[in-house]
Amino acid sequence: MPKKLRVGWFSFSCCGDSTIIFTELWNDHYKEWAKSIEFKAFSSFQKKEEISDLDVSFVEGAIASKEQEDKLIKIRSVSQKLVAIGACAVMGLPGGQRNNFDAKTIEEISPILMRFNYNQKVKKISEIVAVDEVVPGCPMDENIFLLLINKYLGEFGII
Ligand code: SF4
Repeated sequence: MPKKLRVGWFSFSCCGDSTIIFTELWNDHYKEWAKSIEFKAFSSFQKKEEISDLDVSFVEGAIASKEQEDKLIKIRSVSQKLVAIGACAVMGLPGGQRNNFDAKTIEEISPILMRFNYNQKVKKISEIVAVDEVVPGCPMDENIFLLLINKYLGEFGII
């Protein structure tokens, strides 16, 4: 069986638009990528989520809770490369705009934070784990993403 790039795609607190972009790219590149990429985790495509032995993890969205932080740390620990996808993951915004709310607004939303166990502050990915590469944009810049995935397919000896 030819080796495939073992990929995880993870979405945290965000609108998921980079996932939509990636899904469109997958449709466009299906013939080449189906032979060279294996999804170990991608909740938009499949139910199973194997967070182990990943070549590359793509992480979309900002981190808003301890539970999300723990999952991100686990993803990092089993990924050879980790890529922050889109502005929310790269910069923490716009997904973390509540960090800039005034005191009155924070008081108003505090019951929601408590109910869902959210942290007081939303974090970008690099505040929690080391990031190897970033794909900026809101949603992500698909041209940068394409360059990156081709780079990894080459680096990991797939193509
Ligand atoms: S960066 Fe933009 S498109 Fe991506 S999750 Fe955040 S708000 Fe949505």
